[in-house]
Amino acid sequence: MTSISAALQAAVQNLHQQDQSRLDAEVLLAHVLQKPRSYLHAWPEADLDGDQAVRYAELIRRRVEGHPIAYLTGHREFWSLDFEVSPATLIPRPETELLVEQALTLLPGDEALAIADLGTGSGAIAIALAHQCPRWHLFAVDQSTDCLKIAQRNAARHAAANVSLINADWCAAFAPASLDAVIANPPYVPNRDPHLKRGDLRFEPISALAAGPDGLDDLSVIIMQSSRILKNGGLVLLEHAPEQTATLHKLLNRNAFSGIHTLPDLAGVERVTVARKSP
Ligand code: GLN
Repeated sequence: MTSISAALQAAVQNLHQQDQSRLDAEVLLAHVLQKPRSYLHAWPEADLDGDQAVRYAELIRRRVEGHPIAYLTGHREFWSLDFEVSPATLIPRPETELLVEQALTLLPGDEALAIADLGTGSGAIAIALAHQCPRWHLFAVDQSTDCLKIAQRNAARHAAANVSLINADWCAAFAPASLDAVIANPPYVPNRDPHLKRGDLRFEPISALAAGPDGLDDLSVIIMQSSRILKNGGLVLLEHAPEQTATLHKLLNRNAFSGIHTLPDLAGVERVTVARKSP
């Protein structure tokens, strides 16, 4: 028999080379026991049954190999909602909440708007917005059917009836001048960026992360195509890396956008650029 405290102690030792070993050990044990973390502190002497001990050891082994916590538990919180994730989807990041926040700030919440979330992955952005603004209709687009299956389950989990899932390449599914807003957190990491070889990114789909030599391949396509599918005055909101701001402003300007501006995320890093389709 292994108690909660003994299991945690052994796990922390195995994870010693990693930051946050104690937190990781607790999150994974709480996941195996299907209890909140507070339960571990309340019942340190409680025993794991044989099956729980085996499953916990397996999760710790995979964590030691570097597998992201979100893939091991199958969940990640975004905009205070719980999302299912899998290795088919990018793991939603806290900085991406800035896209949601800006959409909610800049678009009227009480109008029946048509909005696309391009490269939706787990559906986090579209579902957060749909949940917040029931009058909006969100088109969650992805070229990966594996992602759309997860996004579908997340939409159902959050009872987001105002989300349609679309299997398509970026803007290909939309008619000219049909949308009020286009939102995207596309791949934008340069192909040779060393970050791709570190931490969680090693296990995430490369197609959701890397986009050409300067990371701008998909952002430039999205800007060109959005200009066609947005109504006049429609809004584009794009997540990107700070090194890309100046080029994005030029591209937006060239593709008939105005009011172009960039906002910093909570770490103070330029992260989201917003612009309006000029009439
Ligand atoms: N911001 C992410 C990272 O660098 C990348 C996400 C993306 O490419 N959309 O970890």
